Amino acid sequence: MKPTTPYRPLDITIPFPELTAYARTATRLHPRRGTPTAADSSVGGPLLWPTDEAWPVCGEAHGRVRGVRTERARRYERMVEEAWARPRPADAEGLPYTDAERVELDAMSSSGHQPDRHDGTPLPLLAVAQFYARDVPDLAGFAPPGTDLLQVLWCPFTGHDDEGAFSDMGPSTRLRWRRAADVTEPLARQPEPAIVERTHYLPRPCVLFPEQVVDHPFGDCLPRELDERIQAWEDALAERAGAAAPRYQDDLSLAPGWKIGGWDSWHRTDLVRVFCRECGTEMRVLLTMDAYDSGGSWGPYPPVDRPTGITVGRDGEYRAFTCPSNPTRPHRMSIQ
Ligand SMILES: [Zn+2]
Ligand SMILES: [Zn+2]
Repeated sequence: MKPTTPYRPLDITIPFPELTAYARTATRLHPRRGTPTAADSSVGGPLLWPTDEAWPVCGEAHGRVRGVRTERARRYERMVEEAWARPRPADAEGLPYTDAERVELDAMSSSGHQPDRHDGTPLPLLAVAQFYARDVPDLAGFAPPGTDLLQVLWCPFTGHDDEGAFSDMGPSTRLRWRRAADVTEPLARQPEPAIVERTHYLPRPCVLFPEQVVDHPFGDCLPRELDERIQAWEDALAERAGAAAPRYQDDLSLAPGWKIGGWDSWHRTDLVRVFCRECGTEMRVLLTMDAYDSGGSWGPYPPVDRPTGITVGRDGEYRAFTCPSNPTRPHRMSIQ
């Protein structure tokens, strides 16, 4: 069943027709566990990569030298999933692991979930996602001329001193635009790092169910006067309808979850405007990666917990911004 965004509790452009001028489409990606191939748009699937192009590596001597072997991280994920699937009494505390699993899990948690040492050798970047323009309508508005495929990779360690990065709190992310038809000899087996800093920097293979929606700006991104009128309207509505009243920020403005395009939320830090370091133009959010594909009234039906396994920051969103005047200029990342 294709995940679908529920109807908004009300259409905010009826009380505030002036919001129409700020509307942007976004493509919600709705990743769900699956077995994507390089020919598919995916999170955590293989990338369509030409055999004759070197796979990117990170050569930084990472400040933190401990992590978890990729193999062990996958084993950990599998243990958790299998335990979830087992029957357990209603009053049971925690998941029903076997004794052998418990020994493995204790070994991981006693090391702060970083049981393995990274020897400091260059790491092949991790394939995070790829999006074909044919699947994701909002990609075309960002794609450099002649390209129709966006590939996202990252180094599975934090603490990089990236030129152009907006935040050093997440993995160092690379974006690669290409024309799919140029890849005549695709790489059969892609490299991957032998170690990651955290299990939740390792995406689980997901196929996508793109769905186009309309976003309106986060309140702080609107002219102050309009934002204040919306807040007054919201307060009046809450007085009449109580706690069930929809709220602009949560229910009526912008979609949470993985998406291409649309508007960016600043619920954790308040608004920080993101400018291109090369030309000074205000950048636009291209990609939002999210731990969840839910968020109150925006939660698609059927519901899902954490489809991709990826969490960056506390539990938040990791966004890539690009320069609207030249999308090939270095992007910047931001965490919420
Ligand atoms: Zn790195
Ligand atoms: Zn620029």
